[in-house]
Amino acid sequence: MEELRKCIRCGKEFDMSSMQYYVNGGFICSDCTPYTQEEKDKKVNILGTDYRWIETTAEKDSRLEDADGYCTNYAKEILIETEIFKKDQVPKIEEQRMVRSKFIKRHEIIHAFFNESGLGDKYGADEELVTWIAWQFPKILKIYQEVDAL
Ligand SMILES: [Zn+2]
Ligand SMILES: [Zn+2]
Repeated sequence: MEELRKCIRCGKEFDMSSMQYYVNGGFICSDCTPYTQEEKDKKVNILGTDYRWIETTAEKDSRLEDADGYCTNYAKEILIETEIFKKDQVPKIEEQRMVRSKFIKRHEIIHAFFNESGLGDKYGADEELVTWIAWQFPKILKIYQEVDAL
C-alpha cells in the first residue's frame, strides 16, 4: 500500500519511495528540495541498492532535529548532520566532533545493511546492537587486516 504525501510547497503528491524532505512541519517533494543536483546525486551502494548520501543540517532538513543521523528504508536515504554538537551545546572540540561524525556515518550504514538484508525490523531496530557494531567495526577491521582475513 502506497502512502502518499502532499508537498507543502507546491501541493504535488508523491509516494514514500521518492525523495522527500521534512521541513517546517510538513513534507516537501524533490522538486522543492533545498539540495543541489550534486548533493542529490551522491549515493552509496548498500548490498546492491543505492542510498542517497546526504550530509546536511537540521535547519535544512528537520528530520535531523532529534538525531544526528537518519537512515530511511522507504526513500533509501542516509542523512548525516554536519553541525553536530550544536544542538546539545557540547563544547566544539574538533577531535570529538570528528570521532562523533565518523561514528554516526558508520552507525547509519549499519542500519542500511540490516535493511537491505531484510533484518531491519529484527536487528536494525536494536539501537544497542547497531551502536555496538559501529563502535567495534574499526577494531575488528584492524585485526582482520593483521591476520590477513580480508
Ligand atoms: Zn513540491
Ligand atoms: Zn540508529
